[in-house]
Amino acid sequence: MNKSKLEYCPFCGKEAYQHQVKPLKLQYKSHSITVNQPGYWCNKCGEGVIGGDDRKATQKELQAFRAKVDGLLTPDEAKTIREKLKLTQQKACDIFGGGINAFSRYERGETPIPKPLSQLLRLLGKHPNLLIELNNKLNRVHSNKKHKIAI
Ligand SMILES: [Zn+2]
Repeated sequence: MNKSKLEYCPFCGKEAYQHQVKPLKLQYKSHSITVNQPGYWCNKCGEGVIGGDDRKATQKELQAFRAKVDGLLTPDEAKTIREKLKLTQQKACDIFGGGINAFSRYERGETPIPKPLSQLLRLLGKHPNLLIELNNKLNRVHSNKKHKIAI
């Protein structure tokens, strides 16, 4: 679809369907949020189609909103704690698991931060020295693998 060209609305058939940003009110549990949602919105009937790129424009804001409702870390809070712990995204994935791109996905708001990880990061954010214990454990496991020592 050409973003500047007017299209016929698939809902009402009027030629008033174009790519634009519209305030969209969404509800999660008993809370609501209004985001500036890009999409192909119809000026006649108000219906719209939200594509992949349009969704990405609001995903982090929505993820942060849901995280706050659920009492979990927001994408930015997770990033702040990771940086405070002086971990790269890659190193954080080594320590906490979730796959090689897990922290990239959490921080972009693509994937919700699992509750146990959220709780653990919150603790480590307050007591960063505890990370040394996790790191030592991880290094031991790695060196055991390297030398094929049975645990
Ligand atoms: Zn329409």
